[in-house]
Amino acid sequence: MQKIEHIGIAVKDIAESNLLFAKLLNTAHYKMEEVESEGVITSFFQVGDVKIELLQATHESSPIHSFVEKKGEGVHHIAFAVEDVDAELKRLKSEGFEAIHQKAKDGADGKVIAFLHPKSTNRVLTEICSDKHVTK
Ligand code: ZN
Repeated sequence: MQKIEHIGIAVKDIAESNLLFAKLLNTAHYKMEEVESEGVITSFFQVGDVKIELLQATHESSPIHSFVEKKGEGVHHIAFAVEDVDAELKRLKSEGFEAIHQKAKDGADGKVIAFLHPKSTNRVLTEICSDKHVTK
């Protein structure tokens, strides 16, 4: 893994949280994007070399909806940049980690992504991601 790419934070109302995090981080979000396959609207803040990704559910079967219902708002996942998501998934599975996605899928912000199951990672929901163009 290369570095922490972003930290995902689940929120109830992304418009309200955009204002809150703009004050907290002293910078405005630079984009918002809906990821239909995950049932979320996202917004991104740049903090130095790392991004903060806010996630709000768009419907009740979204994983973010059930997370917020169960645990409330807060840190949802940590995303690590990798060179090749599929190759890294293969390595992680061979080390015994359980993948939620069996291959790289399109994510927000020009990335391909995959998630590991938190029960295999000390309950830390872990995402790996890479830029779309470098993935075969
Ligand atoms: Zn993410």
